[in-house]
Amino acid sequence: MDGTEVAVRGVETVGTDTVALTLETPEGFDARPGQFVQLAATVDGEEITRHYTLSSPDADQTFEVTVEIDPEGSLSPYLADLESGDTVEVAGPFGDSFYESEERVVVLAGGPGVGPAVGIGERAHGEGATVTVVYEDDEPAHEERLTALAEAGASVVVTDDVSSEDVLEILADARGQTFIYGFADFLDRAHAALDAANVDAEEAKSENFGPAPDS
Ligand SMILES: Cc1cc2nc3c(=O)[nH]c(=O)nc-3n(C[C@H](O)[C@H](O)[C@H](O)COP(=O)(O)OP(=O)(O)OC[C@H]3O[C@@H](n4cnc5c(N)ncnc54)[C@H](O)[C@@H]3O)c2cc1C
Repeated sequence: MDGTEVAVRGVETVGTDTVALTLETPEGFDARPGQFVQLAATVDGEEITRHYTLSSPDADQTFEVTVEIDPEGSLSPYLADLESGDTVEVAGPFGDSFYESEERVVVLAGGPGVGPAVGIGERAHGEGATVTVVYEDDEPAHEERLTALAEAGASVVVTDDVSSEDVLEILADARGQTFIYGFADFLDRAHAALDAANVDAEEAKSENFGPAPDS
């Protein structure tokens, strides 16, 4: 892979089977929350590359990605076992579905989509924007940062069903740029919820993480 070798600066457990990986920012790398990188490492003699989305509000000095560990997966368990000072290869950033200083944001996140949700939420809040986060997960991660966002004035809803009545009411009332992040099955559910709330899902900035691990 044509990437840059960077040092790991930290690996923190932020939920069940979920870690936040802080990496040194490569020279000339400028990324916004919602963009993704390609990480590469040699696991059992084979180079494995996978994509991960920025979960920090910026990429000054360091940046963070949030990795949901798939115990059957090739790269995610390896990343979770890294320690400060180890290295991985980074390429990117990639993707068009990132925060561009919109004044009102509504982020729908499923599973590891919570990474860009907290990154965008913190960046947008820091820029004075109105922030709504709807996060679907039965074992939520990043609870500390979500609580801090809520305490700072963001509307934060953690749910096990993105189409529940209370979520639809919030989506119908919230105005602004919609963002959707997660595996393909979550994107389908989020689109259905937006349709049910009469919000135009076609205008959403959306990133598909691929097929869900157990699909
Ligand atoms: C744009 C983008 C952004 C992403 N952002 C994030 C992010 O921020 N955070 C995050 O956690 N993930 C993100 N992902 C998903 C991530 O890239 C990986 O797909 C995920 O971490 C799993 O990788 P892995 O190597 O651990 O598992 P893999 O080795 O890819 O395996 C995944 C699952 O597929 C099964 N499997 C593999 N091969 C086969 C086969 N031949 N037949 C049947 N089953 C098989 C495995 O058993 C395992 O359960 C993103 C993906 C994309 C495309």
